[in-house]
Amino acid sequence: MRQFTQPIAQVANISNVLQQTVAAAERVFEFLAEEEEPADTATPADTSKVKGAVRFDNVHFGYNPEKPVINNFTALVQPGQKVAIVGPTGAGKSTIIKLLMRFYDIQSGAILIDDTDIRDFARNDLRSLFGMVLQDTWLYNNTIKENIRYGKLDATDEELYTAAKAAQVDHFIRTLPDGYDMVLNEEASNVSQGQKQLLTIARAILSNPQILILDEATSSVDTRTEILIQKAMANLMKGRTSFVIAHRLSTIRDADLIFVMKDGDIIEQGTHDELLARGGFYENLYNSQFSEGEEEAS
Ligand code: ADP
Repeated sequence: MRQFTQPIAQVANISNVLQQTVAAAERVFEFLAEEEEPADTATPADTSKVKGAVRFDNVHFGYNPEKPVINNFTALVQPGQKVAIVGPTGAGKSTIIKLLMRFYDIQSGAILIDDTDIRDFARNDLRSLFGMVLQDTWLYNNTIKENIRYGKLDATDEELYTAAKAAQVDHFIRTLPDGYDMVLNEEASNVSQGQKQLLTIARAILSNPQILILDEATSSVDTRTEILIQKAMANLMKGRTSFVIAHRLSTIRDADLIFVMKDGDIIEQGTHDELLARGGFYENLYNSQFSEGEEEAS
């Protein structure tokens, strides 16, 4: 009987993976955008030597042009810098990321990567510069190994283990009875929330992007896992331009640059210490929003 049921089980499994893939892609597109995309340029610029400098030059944008959401947004990020974006809900933090990945075209101003206007790149080339670690961990009903390999489909096992080590998750995986061959269930609920995050970070490390987008998870994990996540994130961000929609105090403190957003504009920017010394909106936000987490984050 077994030989008959197994292929059926496999088919069911494949269809599951497909369904999950579609659902996961939809979730990612919800974060990004789902509307019609602007046309590619006929003579696209080369992305192969991009170092990861990012410039926003007087950017204006509204999903509805009559209702501006981003106003006069101007900022310069050097290659490898870690930028934390903070601000109240609706300030425009995710919109800035969507514009940088060109899910919408801006109404005026320019966004440049290494001095090239992003409209001069082919959209797929542009997007392949980015790696994303989103709140929604986006894991499949497949083995741990294949879940990580999704970051680079032709990765060797050695590359994959190196990425898992850098993501502080190799040790955990090797304690599992099936190790890297353990199958994650549909919700990936057979591993903890923190471990899911580490697996997602391993995948991002394997994909080796020039620019990282991190939407930090807000869910709480135990202190030990938190330390592993911090280390994994530090390894992931090393040497890469990173934009973090920040909720964790530690991330904000370590950032090279913090953009404080309000009503679609950067109202203050600087390091944590500079912004605190300034005693403005950031200090207020910090006192009201972040001070509760101070003990665990320090
Ligand atoms: P944040 O990430 O800081 O919470 P967002 O960038 O998501 O802020 O939103 C900025 C503004 O743009 C908000 O007023 C929000 O309602 C609006 N907005 C976001 N996404 C869309 C969309 N797809 N269509 C229309 N308005 C949107």
